[in-house]
Amino acid sequence: MSRKESAPANDGETRHAPGQSIDRGRIEAAVSEILAAIGEDPTRPGLVSTPERIAQAYSEFFEGLAVDPLSHLTGSAEFPEGSEELGELVLLRDIDFRSICEHHLLPFTGVAHIAYVPRTRIVGLGKLPRVVETLAARPQLQERLTEEIADALQTGLDPLGLLVVLDATHACVWSRGVRQLNSSTVTMATRGTLSEATERTEIMALIGSARSEVAS
Ligand SMILES: [Zn+2]
Repeated sequence: MSRKESAPANDGETRHAPGQSIDRGRIEAAVSEILAAIGEDPTRPGLVSTPERIAQAYSEFFEGLAVDPLSHLTGSAEFPEGSEELGELVLLRDIDFRSICEHHLLPFTGVAHIAYVPRTRIVGLGKLPRVVETLAARPQLQERLTEEIADALQTGLDPLGLLVVLDATHACVWSRGVRQLNSSTVTMATRGTLSEATERTEIMALIGSARSEVAS
């Protein structure tokens, strides 16, 4: 497990201007070139539409580049500090995500768990997966994605404490190189009160516990 609390290189802002579209024509040309480079015929029937399909897929994979993750948190509800409506802890487990490893342009997929201790703001639970989805739809590293999710939530919600855990399997690990089929990578980012070891341990137990245990 790797855990990082250092300041990330990127603060979660968009990496190219909103509205700047992905150049599908360039992707198609590049994919044709790759197919030719491996000795295939890009014009044979099975491959003729492949560049177009890949361009479509890449547009989806990287659509988060043009989206500001903080835009999902603008509708947060504000309460006075200490208000009962805020609750003590919000924990959303098992948020499915898919991202693309920037070293190999292969997918890594898994689940995110997000916990925060509200200060004055809470947000609709559906907004947290949107933040994850936006930041995951960029060329990423799991460690940086974890930090960027934490930074966006810290900025957008200003909680007293925050914990983000990502548990993912990487296609670049199971499909090539060492080919570890069953290994998953866990990364964690914490802020504020949830950086403390005892608090963190408690949340990790909640994340790891069976639903039935938590339900009561
Ligand atoms: Zn990789």
